[in-house]
Amino acid sequence: MAQVYGRVALIGLGLIASSMFWAMKRGGVAGEVTGYARSEATRETARRIGLCDRVFDSAEEAVEGADLVVLCVPVGAMGPVAEAIAPHLKPGATVIDVGSVKQSVIDAVGPHIPEGVHFVPTHPMAGTEHSGPESGFAELFDNRWCLVVPGDADEAAVAAVEAYWQALGANTERMEVGHHDLVCAVVSHVPHLIAYTMVGVADDLRRVSDQEVIKFSAAGFRDFTRIAASDPTMWRDVFLSNKDAALEILGRFTEELFALQRAIRTGDGDLLFDYFTHTRAIRRGIVQAGQDTDKPDFGRIGGRA
Ligand code: NAP
Repeated sequence: MAQVYGRVALIGLGLIASSMFWAMKRGGVAGEVTGYARSEATRETARRIGLCDRVFDSAEEAVEGADLVVLCVPVGAMGPVAEAIAPHLKPGATVIDVGSVKQSVIDAVGPHIPEGVHFVPTHPMAGTEHSGPESGFAELFDNRWCLVVPGDADEAAVAAVEAYWQALGANTERMEVGHHDLVCAVVSHVPHLIAYTMVGVADDLRRVSDQEVIKFSAAGFRDFTRIAASDPTMWRDVFLSNKDAALEILGRFTEELFALQRAIRTGDGDLLFDYFTHTRAIRRGIVQAGQDTDKPDFGRIGGRA
């Protein structure tokens, strides 16, 4: 596979950055990859496991001479990081971020991008409940979607960013920023909140039913616990920065929940059956689109989620 950028700088060395690094190495996508993480512990780990060709003790040094700079920190940290690196960006370079929310990142990062540097917001729709420099793997983005929110960015720079994500294994699609934040509230953000809530409810119940919640968790609860194990910093930032879309979808969710609650109370089996039939068809559509496996146990026996 062809090299897309000469030098790539990864700022933040967690799940997404480390997966990008291994995918870049797999495909020969970059000439050299430099990296920076906030804590000495993460930088040490990165050096030990060979994550990045060179790891620097400051973000400013890491971005020096980079053709592509990738911001891989929690959404709430994007602005301060962009401000710190801005004077050190190479003219003509491209900055992308991988944040799960786009409007707040554009607002926080955009004003710091110097004249002559391109900013192309992106969001890989792939992840696991693990975080940190040792959690990444080269296949994370394979056949997943990476949403690109170009706004009025330079077309050649946007096309190069798309080629880059495709070289990492992803499919790309362009999206308008408001639409992105709403879609992600539906498919990712609110489902996480529901999982966090369900695990919280079960935790309360555990005080009554002792270990039963854990013992019988394969009955469905286990899948909530996997999602609810996701990084607290990342998800706090997601909800704080995608407030409007998350509240909009939560409102709709609550209405549906009340409708189902009423059907249970009134014994409306037809409503429940029709509802569950419809949702089952949506699941089949996801499997047919190659976004999950139809193996039983959610394809997770002995494999990676
Ligand atoms: P992660 O594994 O927790 O890694 C986060 C990295 O950011 C770490 O290197 C951490 O440094 C650094 N960091 C944390 N707070 C910081 C701050 N205040 N200032 C500077 N650096 C800071 O996170 P991730 O899962 O890779 O997520 C990174 C980004 O990708 C987030 O914006 C998230 O929204 C987005 N994203 C995540 C997923 C997912 O499923 N995980 C999917 C798509 C997009 P230390 O290690 O030194 O603390």
